[in-house]
Amino acid sequence: MSAEDQALVTFIVEQEGLLEALLEQHVDDGRGQCQACPGPQGGRRNWPCDVRLAADRAAEIARERRADPPPAP
Ligand SMILES: [Zn+2]
Repeated sequence: MSAEDQALVTFIVEQEGLLEALLEQHVDDGRGQCQACPGPQGGRRNWPCDVRLAADRAAEIARERRADPPPAP
């Protein structure tokens, strides 16, 4: 994963509600394409799109954080 992707994933984890919204919106439209992402020439992007992949990674990190919370200050 590139540093840019890593930054995106961290952003998704830290914005309250964003992860859930992305997981809900970026779904397969039934034809192997993303329902939320605009593609070239008014088409769609193949699913899972980059946003979905980042959201899936963010979901993993969020789960790990819940399982192993950082020490209280
Ligand atoms: Zn998408």
